Amino acid sequence: MARIVVLGAGFAGLWAAIGAARMRDEIGDAGRDIEIHLIDRNPYHNIRVRNYEVDLSEVALPLPQLLDPIGVTHGIGEVEAIDPARREISLVTSDGKESLSYDRLVLALGSEVMRPDVPGLAEHAFDVDTYAAARRLEDHLASLGRSAPSPARSTVVVVGAGFTGIEVAAEMPARLARAGITGSRRIVLLDPNPVVGATIGEQARPVIETALASLDVETRLGVRVASVEAAGARLNSGEFILTQTVIWCAGMRASRLAGNFAGARDRLGRLLVDPFMRIADVPGVFAAGDVASSVIDGLHPTVMSCQFARPMGRFAGHNVVADLAGRPMLPLRIDWYVTVLDLGGWGALYTEGWDREVRTTGEAAKATKQAINRKRIYPPLSGRKDELFAAAAPTVQAPPPTYGARRN
Ligand SMILES: Cc1cc2nc3c(=O)[nH]c(=O)nc-3n(C[C@H](O)[C@H](O)[C@H](O)COP(=O)(O)OP(=O)(O)OC[C@H]3O[C@@H](n4cnc5c(N)ncnc54)[C@H](O)[C@@H]3O)c2cc1C
Repeated sequence: MARIVVLGAGFAGLWAAIGAARMRDEIGDAGRDIEIHLIDRNPYHNIRVRNYEVDLSEVALPLPQLLDPIGVTHGIGEVEAIDPARREISLVTSDGKESLSYDRLVLALGSEVMRPDVPGLAEHAFDVDTYAAARRLEDHLASLGRSAPSPARSTVVVVGAGFTGIEVAAEMPARLARAGITGSRRIVLLDPNPVVGATIGEQARPVIETALASLDVETRLGVRVASVEAAGARLNSGEFILTQTVIWCAGMRASRLAGNFAGARDRLGRLLVDPFMRIADVPGVFAAGDVASSVIDGLHPTVMSCQFARPMGRFAGHNVVADLAGRPMLPLRIDWYVTVLDLGGWGALYTEGWDREVRTTGEAAKATKQAINRKRIYPPLSGRKDELFAAAAPTVQAPPPTYGARRN
């Protein structure tokens, strides 16, 4: 038996595993001796892009439903280290420390929110980086809803006015209402940059500002959080904001386990991979999703996003089996890039192209966002092998649908 191990069951890892199983099936007898095994710390596939939403009931999909029908084995464990020279993974499972060997590896351990050394951050702040963290925030808001009204109870501070922080802040009016926190409330979005959405683009900014203003989201720009305390957030400007809820959304970094490989990495800690998703100079190892960076159209490196993680996963899965079986591998090339930013009750913002030109806004863009978040990025849930394999084909989807009138 030759063993392929996929590390991570996120958008890259899940699709790598299904893509590998699809290719194993396609090559018939040649694939008979290939085992595909997936490891994640959780027994579910998290639709991570939805962790900011009001309703979390459909964002953790049990892995057995997705992997058992296609013969991919899976285990729950915390990956602690990878030794590429010995082709061995060190894990902690419920049975203790274990090691697992591989013939080929797909590294898809994703990214995590950066948590700088701010006093009180670890003890008092929340985030929406993982399903577990999103549930913790949900439980916290629900418990606030049952407690006595106070300014601190009805104030939420969101740190980081990039994609995630804006989505979290814009969704917060609905989340507070659901928790029963009505009446006067404050949502404060803060960022060290002098503008909101500094990385999102000039054209998008006025739309974001209009949406935040209509949702009564205050901004504090050009400031940093000096400390997070039980009673509130202290800013480096000297201001103290009374709050029981600080949500940290300040930037992403690739899994630290990318550092176990000698390959070159970028400033986000991502391993540079070729169009086949191979890490240069590390035989037998493919990487996909937020842990990897690939130049996708001859010019632009992938952005940490599910938009790129899913096709990177499908191609890595296809190629890892092709490599093992001596078949031709397929290069990944994607010639489009879009962003769809949820702006809560105001709607959304849809941009196209690397210059992020605004195409639709408000309800029209919201329809695109919902089509993506609720349908497009979901694996088939029927448990049918043919549907799973069809969805994992190593092809590039067309851009998501646009609705309503174009802005220009
Ligand atoms: C709130 C939020 C909103 C977002 N919105 C968008 C959006 O609108 N559009 C978009 O394109 N992108 C969005 N993103 C980014 C997107 O979620 C990521 O780019 C995407 O999840 C990357 O996929 P991945 O498979 O590489 O990593 P992940 O989805 O993070 O998957 C990594 C997997 O590895 C597992 N894992 C990690 N470390 C270990 C370990 N040591 N041991 C065992 N298992 C481990 C994790 O449990 C996880 O299942 C958003 C992210 C967040 C947090």
